Order: sequence, then C-alpha cells, then structure tokens
Amino acid sequence: MFEIVTARGVHMRIAIVGGGFAGLAAAQLAEEVTADVRLFDKGSYSGERRGAWGEMVWDYSQLPLERDVPGYVREATTGIFVGHDGKTAINVPDGVILNRGELEKHWVGTLERTEIVEDATVDQGEFRRLAEESDLLVDATGQFPISRRFTDLSYDVACPTLSGRIEADFSHLYPEPRALAYENYFLWIVPQSPAEATVGLGCREQKSPEKLYADMRRLLTELDIEPPARETLYSGTDVSNGLRSLSHCTYELNDCTVHIAGDAIGLANRLTGFGMVHAAQSGRTAVRAFVQQESYKRRLVCQNFWTKVVTGAASPIHASIGLEGIASLAKSDIEYQESFEPQQPGDIVSAVRKFI
Ligand SMILES: Cc1cc2nc3c(=O)[nH]c(=O)nc-3n(C[C@H](O)[C@H](O)[C@H](O)COP(=O)(O)OP(=O)(O)OC[C@H]3O[C@@H](n4cnc5c(N)ncnc54)[C@H](O)[C@@H]3O)c2cc1C
Repeated sequence: MFEIVTARGVHMRIAIVGGGFAGLAAAQLAEEVTADVRLFDKGSYSGERRGAWGEMVWDYSQLPLERDVPGYVREATTGIFVGHDGKTAINVPDGVILNRGELEKHWVGTLERTEIVEDATVDQGEFRRLAEESDLLVDATGQFPISRRFTDLSYDVACPTLSGRIEADFSHLYPEPRALAYENYFLWIVPQSPAEATVGLGCREQKSPEKLYADMRRLLTELDIEPPARETLYSGTDVSNGLRSLSHCTYELNDCTVHIAGDAIGLANRLTGFGMVHAAQSGRTAVRAFVQQESYKRRLVCQNFWTKVVTGAASPIHASIGLEGIASLAKSDIEYQESFEPQQPGDIVSAVRKFI
C-alpha cells in the first residue's frame, strides 16, 4: 500500500488520459490514494487491443505487476544485437517477452476503484473540462500527446515503424530476441514461440508505410522468414529520440496540475527494451509526486537521467561506437536502473563517473 505523507489524498480527484503502460500504472497507484480516479482511452481493452508492438521488457521486476499473469509469455534473459560489425549478445537481468494486448487487458481488470472510460478520444476541449474537474490530470497519451496543444513540447524527430505479430517458422531464431541494425533501419524479431513472433521495422528517415513494407519484405526474406501480409501490420512512430525536454513534464491548466508521463514526455529509450518500464515508472511517479507534493520534474530527472544520456549521446555516435558500444551503454542503463535511485545532483554526478 502506498503511504500517504500529506494531507492531500482523501478527496483528491485524479483523471488519467491514455491507458497504456503509463496510464495503467498511474491509475493503479492513484486508486490506492483516492476513490475518485477516472481513466480515459480512445481504444478498448477487448479484442485485439494493440496487435503487436515491441513486446520485450529487459527488466520485468521494474514493472508493478505479478509474474505469470495473462500476457506474461516467457523469460528471455539474452538479447542479440546483429549488425555490420558483428553479433553481440547482451544478458539482461530479468528479461521477459510479453503479449502486450493481453497484459493490458489483464491489468485494467485489476483496477477495482478506477472508472474506466473506453472508446473515449479526449480532445482539447474535453481535456480542459477534465482539468476543471480534477486536482491532477495525467497525460499518458503516448507518442503525440494531447499536451502538445498546451505546451511548447517539441516533436522533432520521429521514426516510422511497421510491426505485427506473425506466424511463420522462427525455430532457427527461437528463443532469443534479436535486434538487427542496418544502415537506415532497425529490425527486431521477438519470438513468442518457435512458430510465432513479434516483428517490427523502424526506419531512421521518413518513409511511407508502403515503402517500409517493401523493405521489410526484403529484409525478412533474406532471413528466411515468410513476410506477413501488409494488412496484418500496424503503422506506428517511435519518438524515442531523447530530445524531448523533461522541463515540460508538468504545467497548470485551469488550476489543475497536469503531469505528462511515458512516451508523451519522451521516456522511451530506443537502445533497450525499456519503453514500457519507463512509461510505468513515470505514470507512478506522476501520481506519487503530486500526492507527496514533490517536484515531478526532479523525480523524473533523477529516475531517467541515464536513459536520457544514453539515448541522447548514443544516437549521433551510433555508427562510430558499434554494437559493442551500444550494448554496453544499454547494459549500463540496466545496471543504473537496478542499482540506483538518485536523490541528489551529487548522486547523478557520481553515477556518471561510475559508468563513463
Ligand atoms: C514499433 C514499436 C516497438 C516497440 N518495442 C518496444 C519493446 O520491445 N519494449 C519496450 O519496452 N518498449 C517498446 N516500444 C516503446 C513502447 O511501446 C512505449 O515506450 C510504451 O508503449 C509507452 O507507453 P505509454 O503508456 O506512454 O504510451 P502508449 O502505450 O502509446 O499508450 C498511450 C495510450 O493513450 C491512448 N490515447 C492516445 N491519445 C488519446 C486521446 N486523445 N484520448 C484518449 N486516449 C488516447 C492510446 O489509445 C493508448 O492506449 C516500442 C515502440 C514501438 C513504436
């Protein structure tokens, strides 16, 4: 149970817009501190909620979830990077392959005191109205968040992606997840079983889904994998560019505090399977910081400093440090997350000394 350390709490009204990992984690914590929690999502938790995105988490212990729940597929503690400078295996402490749609469906079902409003696209006007009715509004709307209407948040770099869960022969790759780096692409293959995998292609330049699909077909064929039909794939965007500033993570709207969490504030780290972990952590932090009257920005900076460094530093020097370098940076991210929750700027400085 979350410990309430301020007088806030009992009558607090919390609204959360966006019910992915960030929003669900925010709701999970919020309902421990108040009975007035509402979660809005433009989609629905029934059926094929998400199809498939990436579904690899490198440190499941960082998620506020039990093991062996629906959507927890299996352990996978080794990931393999493959690129022009060779093959690098990276061992991760608590890697798990997920079925994300199933996991989110399960997670939302565990929320007992949250009012869940599905199929509800919150627009600018509705967001303002929610702010009038709430003490805390969490914007967890993902890659192109609603808060871009209200802040200077910048969305400069975004990579188009194409992904899906496909059935084909993956026995030659099973069980390790693979990330394959090409000059302009990254392809990941996450086998759920020898006969099924989540496959995704991201591109470093703007390309239409059709062009991306043609490239995906070519790359999969080279790997002896039968390419999926176009209609089984989802177009997406990965905005984990590390350039979005945490200084916009909070603002006031109609006397309501708005905290932005997850991809909405750019916490994904494209080097590692940490997007979902960072989303869940920031969702909780968004609620916790408000309840405890702490600075949300400060907590986020402390929690995510290393991720920002890794993402920001590695992107431009990606080609020169090679896979070994990327793998060791990614590993540092894991170790940093595992060992450390810095509270003071001095802690951050000593962490940098330790890892660089
Ligand atoms: C192709 C791809 C592969 C990836 N692979 C991995 C991986 O293997 N491991 C990993 O950890 N991370 C991975 N990531 C990153 C990860 O998906 C994200 O970091 C994570 O989903 C962020 O969670 P979130 O809750 O912030 O946002 P999301 O999961 O995007 O959730 C946002 C939610 O908000 C809802 N929403 C949006 N707008 C509105 C609105 N106006 N009104 C109401 N609801 C709204 C959406 O329906 C959605 O449910 C991948 C990303 C992509 C694109």
